[in-house]
Amino acid sequence: MGSCRICEKKSSLTSRELGLCLDCIRSRPEETREWALEVHARIRTGWGLPGEAPRHPEGIACDLCVNSCRIGEGGWGYCGLRQNAQGRVEGVSATRGKLSWYYDPLPTNCVADWVCAGGSRCGYPTYSYREDAEYGYENLAVFPHACTFHCLFCQNWHFRYYTFEDRCEPVESLVRAVNEKTACVCYFGGDPSPQLPYLLHASRMMRERDKGRILRICWETNGAMSKRLLDEVADSALTSGGCIKFDLKAWNETLHFALTGVTNRRTLENFQRLAKWLPSRPEPPFLIASTLMVPGYIDAQEVGHIAEFIESLNPEIPYSLLAFHPDYKMNDLAATSRKQAQECLAAAKQAGLKRVRVGNIHLLG
Ligand code: SF4
Ligand code: SF4
Ligand SMILES: [Zn+2]
Repeated sequence: MGSCRICEKKSSLTSRELGLCLDCIRSRPEETREWALEVHARIRTGWGLPGEAPRHPEGIACDLCVNSCRIGEGGWGYCGLRQNAQGRVEGVSATRGKLSWYYDPLPTNCVADWVCAGGSRCGYPTYSYREDAEYGYENLAVFPHACTFHCLFCQNWHFRYYTFEDRCEPVESLVRAVNEKTACVCYFGGDPSPQLPYLLHASRMMRERDKGRILRICWETNGAMSKRLLDEVADSALTSGGCIKFDLKAWNETLHFALTGVTNRRTLENFQRLAKWLPSRPEPPFLIASTLMVPGYIDAQEVGHIAEFIESLNPEIPYSLLAFHPDYKMNDLAATSRKQAQECLAAAKQAGLKRVRVGNIHLLG
């Protein structure tokens, strides 16, 4: 049971670590922001990460994501991947990345499996080896070891143990990991954004080497990369039969900031930007949205607003509502209840979306 430092109410729906209730987050944005900044900075400092995005006036600028870091001498970018070492950027590059990978037999349980060429009947024969799900083939799941957000509910947070490891993978090693059973490559993480120059480079090399065969390129992301890189990501997915899975974590900007440490503005702009390409390849769907139903925070009101936004762009965009399990700094909250899931599902349908579903049903409390 956590208590809210603004209204002092105690509730099992208030995260102990965040110490803010949903009502206060919505009604007291300035106090929320101030306190949330402290919370994120304290936890991030424990990992050796900058408390907030560096803004050193004479620092080295990085424009790969919404954080637009200006990294001062000896300091690190918000993601922990780039350091200013005597005026030079050190860390990852287009040929050296911090990441790992594994093979996942298709169909996988990914956010898009119900509509993608690997998990459903969509896309055959142009983008899929089989008329049904691609049994016998594999997804190359690529797991970057850093992120541009700091979500208190992160379900993959263990990547943070590896962000500062010295070991880097040459781009050729990742390209070699694609074998004759690989039908798709999915970049998730962490988040692909801070290593997009490397991942896009790898994707081009893979497709060039394996010209003439099906190899889908898919992305799962918080969506806060630069617009320039977003367009390259979109092109790689569109032309290969892959998809982009955007996590739309919260509609209310203050709530998004409290939960993730970062604004949602770039993510929403980028999602809108991608929608313009939808007509050029309606099937398999190129853009998929998802939202984690965090108890006490991401309620039917949030989901309803997100769904209205998606609907305003195109009501055919698939939307996955994902069940939360207690993790990272929100491990004191319960799993998403069936009631919350039903309310969120109803709100998404009410907004007019044609393709909505609840994923991870086995996790519902
Ligand atoms: S990728 Fe984003 S978080 Fe990382 S250094 Fe660049 S601007 Fe900062
Ligand atoms: S964007 Fe995803 S990987 Fe990054 S901190 Fe948030 S939940 Fe974790
Ligand atoms: Zn409160």
